Amino acid sequence: MMIRVLFFCILSCTAFSKPIKIVASFSILADLVKQVGLEKVDVRTIVGRNGDAHMYEPTPLDVKAMNNADIVFINGLGFEGWIERLIKASGFKGPLVVVGKNIHPRLVFEGRLVEDPHAWHSIPNAIVYIHNIQEALGTKDPHHKAFYEKNAQQVIHRLNAIDASIRQRLSHIPPRHRKIITAHDAFGYFGNSYGVEFLSPVGTNTESEPCAKDMVKLIEAIKTYKVKTIFLENITNPKLIQQLSRETKAKVGPVLYSDALSMLDGPAPTYETMIQYNFERFLDAMKEMG
Ligand SMILES: [Zn+2]
Repeated sequence: MMIRVLFFCILSCTAFSKPIKIVASFSILADLVKQVGLEKVDVRTIVGRNGDAHMYEPTPLDVKAMNNADIVFINGLGFEGWIERLIKASGFKGPLVVVGKNIHPRLVFEGRLVEDPHAWHSIPNAIVYIHNIQEALGTKDPHHKAFYEKNAQQVIHRLNAIDASIRQRLSHIPPRHRKIITAHDAFGYFGNSYGVEFLSPVGTNTESEPCAKDMVKLIEAIKTYKVKTIFLENITNPKLIQQLSRETKAKVGPVLYSDALSMLDGPAPTYETMIQYNFERFLDAMKEMG
């Protein structure tokens, strides 16, 4: 009897200690899931570091990973236009967790009113993502619910500290200097949360093309506000920003990380480092305006 009980325990303990197999749609979300799940999750990322999720084409390897997954995490808000096709091709029937499901969406007009998917650039939104991740992991693996809760609380504590620091440091910047030019409209949620205006030659999707009128308006804005640095992103084509730089004499600044993390040895290998790195670049640009 004793041996049987022991045997059962070994079996069940082994089953629980096996990491949950997770697929996350892009690198920023994969990092947030890892921060909450730590060693209890095995996360595979579809659109990897420095990858553009707007333009992604799923591969047979993605189909296989989805087929093996216990949970799939996506951003939602129209970010992963290819996800439905991938789910269908893979036959995945498990829980699909949309971490942006209860975010108040930023609406932008791009021929029609669309939801801006880049909600993660506001820390209060990232905290909503963390709650959704914690809840999904706790539901899938109730045995370790307290573990996920503790990790989520630690992440939220650190995120709140970064949020407070951004607000405090921005309070010294006059409103007329809070203008940042980036390659695509990816930082609108940051702008709404922290009171910074972001302008870009194209909209929230990297596939869109600017019209001549928009470029003229942007050139005027750069001159009016005396913007000295304009930014490329790790996922965008440099052409438009280089053209704006030639026409305005504003210099092309360091690369920002908008829709994907950097490589592990780069300046933005995690969500927290990405937010802080981008903010330092914004702050440098705002301080040189006059
Ligand atoms: Zn984007």
